[in-house]
Amino acid sequence: MHKKVDLSELSPADTMLTPAYGGRAVNEPVPKYEMPAGELPPETVYNLIHDELMLDGNSRLNLATFVTTWMEPQAAKLMAETFDKNMIDKDEYPQTAEIELRCVNILSRLWNAPKQATATGCSTIGSSEAAMLGGMALKWKWRDRRKAQGKPHDKPNMVMGINVQVCWEKFCRYWEIEPRFVPMEGDRYCLNAEEALKLVDENTIGVVVIMGSTFDGRYENVKEVNDALEKLNADTGWEVPIHVDGASGGMVAPFLQPDLEWDFRLPLVKSINTSGHKFGLVYPGVGWIIWRDQAELPDDLVFHCNYLGGDLPNFALNFSRPGNQVVAQYYNFLRLGQEGYRQIHEASREVAMFLSGEIAKIGPFELISDGSDIPVFAFAVKPRNNFSVFDISDKMRERGWLLPAYTFPKNRDDLAVLRAVCKEGFTRDMANMLLIDLRRAVEHFQSQPEHTAKVSGSNFHH
Ligand SMILES: *Cc1c(COP(=O)(O)O)cnc(C)c1O
Repeated sequence: MHKKVDLSELSPADTMLTPAYGGRAVNEPVPKYEMPAGELPPETVYNLIHDELMLDGNSRLNLATFVTTWMEPQAAKLMAETFDKNMIDKDEYPQTAEIELRCVNILSRLWNAPKQATATGCSTIGSSEAAMLGGMALKWKWRDRRKAQGKPHDKPNMVMGINVQVCWEKFCRYWEIEPRFVPMEGDRYCLNAEEALKLVDENTIGVVVIMGSTFDGRYENVKEVNDALEKLNADTGWEVPIHVDGASGGMVAPFLQPDLEWDFRLPLVKSINTSGHKFGLVYPGVGWIIWRDQAELPDDLVFHCNYLGGDLPNFALNFSRPGNQVVAQYYNFLRLGQEGYRQIHEASREVAMFLSGEIAKIGPFELISDGSDIPVFAFAVKPRNNFSVFDISDKMRERGWLLPAYTFPKNRDDLAVLRAVCKEGFTRDMANMLLIDLRRAVEHFQSQPEHTAKVSGSNFHH
């Protein structure tokens, strides 16, 4: 969100851009917060914006983001060639639509959709939109069941771990659903079946289980929740389903943990979302949602509009959206195949586990996770040090590393961690450089006994 800047509070110089490349073309400074009255030459504008963007951190040193920071030049070329494709214009761009259909097929098979069912799904702008769509389908299905039984349907709730990504809190608030959070307890940082089931009742539209927790990268146990819910449903006559938030893990588990049952192999898993722009290895923003069967997606959520020509069913929050990210997703699927994804993610996992292992050896750090599920791990500073994770994060930033520090939610908000997301492009060499800087940061604080640990300071949004 951005607010209108009060220009009267700024010095005149702060309201202007002063192009260094302007030369004769630009004699006048350019206003920042108002649209300039006249035109500027394209090369000047390019240089101006290009230079300003250098102030963004270096994305390759960014261990905070889950999102892809590098793609092959051929993929970038394809994306540039398809900047003009609007994903919604399926009638005009039937081949882009066909490519989306192929991706949906590829994912539904990767996630073991049952052979006898008709899996169905679509691309989205990211996992957040996919979560909205998945959550709505759960709400509609629950409401239809309640109506059919002549029971009240005005108090829906959804059960999830307190470690959910913010998109699920948004979903609940925007669609007026009571969120029921399984709290963290001791060293359990995610939901388990026993605690989740305590919160489930006849008004539960579904349980969200996360494959790759934002807080520490660990998988929640989908199978355990599935088995416990199956029993509960059998005992009560309820039909509480599961949605798997596979924002990260949906694109990792099929390659690194193929025997782990977390997907449509489990009968109560009705829908799964993933972020194509995370471990799907595509630039932002593309996400996916797949339902195990078309029966899980109520008809009245799907719109049919004919003003682009043809009758094309559509379930989305946006109308227009770039088609080139879907094209890039397909590029990766074809280019890498299952073995390519496996090798890339395996390499990232090796780097993550090497890094977490070395960090544990430094002394003052304690691992919260080790990066063996998705290549993401979190670590804390042990008590009785004169520095905190926030100090370390700041110190690492001096060297260009973006290593976010944040506190855990309720019940464990005493715990603050640093998190490293090891993506393709973060090599073992870079991990070694990071370790040198991390050891140096520790020595820096240890050599200053008068320093006291900073207690907060995070502006990281999970
Ligand atoms: C990143 C993430 C999201 C949100 O995904 P976007 O693609 O950024 O919208 C949701 N859930 C989890 C577990 C995530 O890691």
